[in-house]
Amino acid sequence: MEKIYLLEECKDAKYILISGHVRPDGDCTSSCLAMYLYLKKALPAAKVQLCLEEPPIVFQCIQDFDKIDSTYTVDGEVDVFIALDCEKSRLGEAEEIFVKAKKRINIDHHISNSQGCGDINYVNPDSSSTAELVYELMDKQYINQEIAKAIYIGMIHDTGIFQYSNTSPNTLRTAAELIEYGFDFSSLIDETFYEKTYTQNQLLGRALLESIIFMHGKCIVSAIDKKTLEFYNATAKDLDGIVNQLRITKGVECAIFMYATGNLEYKVSLRSCKYVDVSKIAAFFGGGGHIRAAGCTINGTFYDVVNNISKQIALQMKAYEEKMILK
Ligand code: AMP
Ligand code: MN
Ligand code: MN
Repeated sequence: MEKIYLLEECKDAKYILISGHVRPDGDCTSSCLAMYLYLKKALPAAKVQLCLEEPPIVFQCIQDFDKIDSTYTVDGEVDVFIALDCEKSRLGEAEEIFVKAKKRINIDHHISNSQGCGDINYVNPDSSSTAELVYELMDKQYINQEIAKAIYIGMIHDTGIFQYSNTSPNTLRTAAELIEYGFDFSSLIDETFYEKTYTQNQLLGRALLESIIFMHGKCIVSAIDKKTLEFYNATAKDLDGIVNQLRITKGVECAIFMYATGNLEYKVSLRSCKYVDVSKIAAFFGGGGHIRAAGCTINGTFYDVVNNISKQIALQMKAYEEKMILK
């Protein structure tokens, strides 16, 4: 997809609104904040607003975290809406504002959104993160240490500290350029990625203890129910990273983690190691994501959800095994 000229697209805008997906993660939060800081600096005359559901508190180390508006209160007609790290349907409360905006820009890296949902799109499923794409579109003269730090945080969260297969030479070159700005990247990794609260570790422990392996050890599943969340006085934000821990179980190709979001409704996270395309499975259930990391919401009991997902995984595994035999 061809590069877009952000400042050119926004130059006449009096009111710019930035938003990202529901339940914002590290990439979404950081991309939005980096974009916010950048536009405030490059276009000081424009009113820039950032609307987002409350992100995990660890990201408060990014400048202007406290400027995030989770009430979605719009003041007049939005000239440019910038949707980051998602397509329209995952904007939550901001979707309505997106639809009414005069010009819509969409920057994303989800394979499930390969066409883009804006009037102007910059979508690249080969990119590690939306943060990496946002950096590509920035006029470097306006980048300062705080903006560089935000981009870096987005990248480390979507690549698992440059470990997942979405890490490219460009990702690492970008990271190299970013650390030239001199922020303390080592502490950032500890504070925003590895550090867990006692509650988060307890929930991780529960999820691991109660996990079940199936399909001859190639799949693993675990769930946290509403009662458990209530018992620990926890929220969905405390469950980040559990699916990644399940995925690294020896012999496992596909990991499933789910938590109850309603009566007989589960938010499902899927991860794979080598060959199962979990974005296809998530898309089958109305969600989306990437080849090795995807998510969706499914109705039914725990067993219904596991059965339905297993069927889709089995189909892919069968196709893969047949391909291997033919080789
Ligand atoms: P999660 O398992 O929620 O951490 O999500 C893994 C990846 O899939 C992230 O890049 C998410 O943004 C994406 N994703 C999760 N749920 C959905 C969904 N319902 N639709 C599209 N993408 C999703
Ligand atoms: Mn995201
Ligand atoms: Mn992302």
